[in-house]
Amino acid sequence: MRPQREYHIVVLGAGGVGKSCLTAQFVQNVWIESYDPTIEDSYRKQIEVDGRQCILEIELYMKQGQGFLLVFSITSASSLNELSELREQIIRIKDDEKVPLVIVGNKSDLEEDRAVPRARAFGLSQNWGNAPYYETSARRRANVNEVFVDLCRQIIRKDLE
Ligand code: GDP
Repeated sequence: MRPQREYHIVVLGAGGVGKSCLTAQFVQNVWIESYDPTIEDSYRKQIEVDGRQCILEIELYMKQGQGFLLVFSITSASSLNELSELREQIIRIKDDEKVPLVIVGNKSDLEEDRAVPRARAFGLSQNWGNAPYYETSARRRANVNEVFVDLCRQIIRKDLE
């Protein structure tokens, strides 16, 4: 068996877009309607990515992240606008234009309240050199694993370069 690797992932985005809920769904498989962020700010979960055991250390702050989930809510255009600034900060801090990241449009279960057309998010993704874009619902646990696996895969690839 290949050795276990440990990766640091950071979940970023405007307040209220669902960062804590997504993380809780991924790590603990629970939907927490109202999350108290003071309880804990770091989580660990082991997953298998392409036959490789990976331990993900997930943080809600930048610290020593190797991969970043940039989360907005599809119901909030301003939350999408905040991501560009966050990406610039990450690139500055990591001193790396090609830092592994995934753009996440959360709250996909609220389609009737959509304020961000899919095409706009894809436009941003293209501007950022085809950064992967996923729409998730922490509430329905839709695409939750997929975003973490995609990010983990990017980190692994970079690790192997
Ligand atoms: P954070 O500030 O980004 O960590 O946001 P939270 O995870 O605390 O979520 C903020 C609010 O959005 C809470 O009231 C959650 O119940 C709600 N929320 C989070 N994810 C979803 C989702 O996928 N769908 C819906 N409908 N609500 C969500």
